[in-house]
Amino acid sequence: MTFVKIKEEISVADATLVAVSKTHPVQKIQTVYDLGHRDFGENKVQELMEKVGDLPDDIRWHMIGHLQSNKVKYLAPFVHLIHSLDRLSLAKEINKEGRKADRVISVLLQIKIAKEDTKFGLDPESIEGFMEKLNNRKYDFIKICGVMGMATFTNDEEQIRSEFLKLEDVFRFVKDKYFQDDPVFNIKSYGMSADYKIALDTGSNMVRVGSLIFGDRNY
Ligand SMILES: *Cc1c(COP(=O)(O)O)cnc(C)c1O
Repeated sequence: MTFVKIKEEISVADATLVAVSKTHPVQKIQTVYDLGHRDFGENKVQELMEKVGDLPDDIRWHMIGHLQSNKVKYLAPFVHLIHSLDRLSLAKEINKEGRKADRVISVLLQIKIAKEDTKFGLDPESIEGFMEKLNNRKYDFIKICGVMGMATFTNDEEQIRSEFLKLEDVFRFVKDKYFQDDPVFNIKSYGMSADYKIALDTGSNMVRVGSLIFGDRNY
């Protein structure tokens, strides 16, 4: 099975594999779970909530898609990592719901590295201002654990590589400036089915792979 091969390749690179199960039924997730895998990613809250109850409790659920503030409350009690913090209003909401659930919620800063303007994320130029504002607000129920990004959808490997390296730069900047002595800030989530090899090559330590594991998606 492809999954075993990919998982091996990613663990050799010392990275974490998030198996992106969006649009696929719980049976397929269970199959991969039974092979010992625990990290799964979904990009829609509603779909995630429909699946959670039918699957084992020890799955680590990753929210990888754009997150509307009014949906945070559903995730707060159990989500393992939110990859898509891209605005202050969302941080405020995550903090509020984290407090209610009495959980510190782990999040990644989603950074816009692609040239396409369809991709969400914080502009690399705005990251410093964002961090200053976030720190001023002292959100005790949010833990920033790293960065996440998506490269442009292109065959141009050099472009993908340079976008990933830009994300690497942002990670380094934020790490040095705000999290130097904090080992928890260490996640670099980038790389998908088409570009995870380039991602591992440029320093990613968390890749989000969907179609290569579960097959094509029929929307
Ligand atoms: C769907 C998705 C992935 C996985 O995409 P594949 O090309 O199927 O590997 C990764 N990250 C995000 C944010 C996604 O929405």
